[in-house]
Amino acid sequence: MSDIISKNFIENIIDEDLRQNEDAKRINTRFPPEPNGYLHIGHAKSICLNFGMAVKYEGLCNLRYDDTNPSKEDMEYVESIEQDVKWLGFDWADRKFYTSNYFEKIYECAENLIKLGKAYVCDLNSQEIRDYRGTLKEPGKESPYRNRTMEENLELFQKMREGEFEDGEKTLRAKIEMASPNLNMRDPVLYRILRANHHRTGDEWCIYPMYDFAHPISDALEGITHSICTLEFEDHRPLYEWIVNNLDFEIKPRQIEFARLNLTNTVMSKRKLRELVEQGNVKGWDDPRMPTISGLRRRGYTAESIRDFCERIGVSKANSLVEVSLLEHCIREDLNDKAVRVMAVLRPLKVIIDNYPEGKVEEMKAENNPNDPEMGERTIPFSREIYIEQEDFMEEPVKKFFRLSPGKEVRLKHAYIIKCEKVVKNEETGEILELHCTYDPQTKSGSDTSGRKVKGTLHWVSAEQAIKAEVRLYDYLYKNDNENGEQGDNQEMILNPNSLECLTSCLVEPSLKKVKDGEKFQFLRQGYFCVDSDSTEEKLVFNRVVSLRDSWAKKKKK
Ligand code: ATP
Ligand code: MG
Repeated sequence: MSDIISKNFIENIIDEDLRQNEDAKRINTRFPPEPNGYLHIGHAKSICLNFGMAVKYEGLCNLRYDDTNPSKEDMEYVESIEQDVKWLGFDWADRKFYTSNYFEKIYECAENLIKLGKAYVCDLNSQEIRDYRGTLKEPGKESPYRNRTMEENLELFQKMREGEFEDGEKTLRAKIEMASPNLNMRDPVLYRILRANHHRTGDEWCIYPMYDFAHPISDALEGITHSICTLEFEDHRPLYEWIVNNLDFEIKPRQIEFARLNLTNTVMSKRKLRELVEQGNVKGWDDPRMPTISGLRRRGYTAESIRDFCERIGVSKANSLVEVSLLEHCIREDLNDKAVRVMAVLRPLKVIIDNYPEGKVEEMKAENNPNDPEMGERTIPFSREIYIEQEDFMEEPVKKFFRLSPGKEVRLKHAYIIKCEKVVKNEETGEILELHCTYDPQTKSGSDTSGRKVKGTLHWVSAEQAIKAEVRLYDYLYKNDNENGEQGDNQEMILNPNSLECLTSCLVEPSLKKVKDGEKFQFLRQGYFCVDSDSTEEKLVFNRVVSLRDSWAKKKKK
């Protein structure tokens, strides 16, 4: 790897580790999701980081399900996680693991700590444990059960496993230091009794290891060299190291923390996302408004654009809030190169071109992407009756309105210049029903001999050949930002009641007849759109990925 490119702090740590330890040839990271929800864009940051490091250093990255919390986990989530990681472009090969596969080994580790006199069975209940723990200012108090003999602890721990006690009646705790300035070191709980059916081990266990105990052991068992996690685990690192150092592991993994991703107008905690799904505020985990990877995919985001986003935000040690407009910028950049330009009218207004022969259909040439001639051309039918966008007509135009109005001319993209001659309205309601126009045959796009110039160019579709479609426009799910990051539960997030606008009488050009689920287009002047999985033979459904206006790029220019 070139040293000229500036490295992030994690790469610096890895470089240093590799320099100091001649034998350490290969780094091994892991991505450890808890299968209690679908992955979101924050997880994408972690995936790109962990798998990305493995690629950069020619090492390995494991996929590990952190399934120590039986009650909230599910196989549905496991499957979605695999699909999402693969879709993002990463591969764990044969290294898919489950913490629950290590339950027996983790149990042995606990017994070893007991034998070393470093863990004990405690009879305090959870409230008492909290009361004894002290505060940041005051030291904790030792549990009265702290000095049980090793033999007694071993026997009680076995009985915990055998189900001789009630849920919550006893715990296994590390014997560290109740006066430690770090609360996590004040004899943390390692095991709890919980009769809950686990999605993989069923009823085999009635005791479960705590995350802080299971995680370092799983890392060590898999030979993880660098255990990259988010900042809220910084205070847990001394405990992580205590566990790794007190148990006899060949490879001692090293924990490194980085700042989690927070996005404006977005919540990312799985608990909150699950609430949105369960309360029916969205249609599911893959609702195109969701910040989940499946939601973004359905919306029309590409894996490339998400990886590009993760690259641009980088990794740091300081929590921050990233503008969601940067994510939008990344998909625009990607689709700008890839998407075929087509014409679609979202809110149609009929236009009759009176001097155009009835029954005549001309095939107009249109380039697929002006930035890339290699993407080729197609033809679009033009005829006497077309539709334009309602908002492209104003009966009494305001200043600087260069689109169509009575007596004025515009160019129809890829076709002719037309002039508005007459407006037909519903006499009672005043609603505009149709426009009558004339066209100038000399102004055909590509062979215009008139030399005339008009200021406005409109998109349109030919009435007879156009295909009906439904178009879904999205706005942010939330009106405000989560300033406190995901840890800040106290922040009230205000749902945007207008996050979905469904337009059901849109018309798209006939070249879109045979589109496939997930295919993406630029609708001229309207934004980027993606074919939704709700599409059927009878009805096409499109999601707007993003509009064309790039607020992020604009901001950066200022
Ligand atoms: P959530 O709060 O959404 O439930 P979590 O951390 O509990 O997140 P896990 O499934 O445990 O979810 O996370 C798997 C990995 O993804 C962890 O290593 C975690 O640190 C990382 N991760 C989760 N959220 C983010 C985020 N917003 N930014 C970066 N990494 C994240
Ligand atoms: Mg978690």
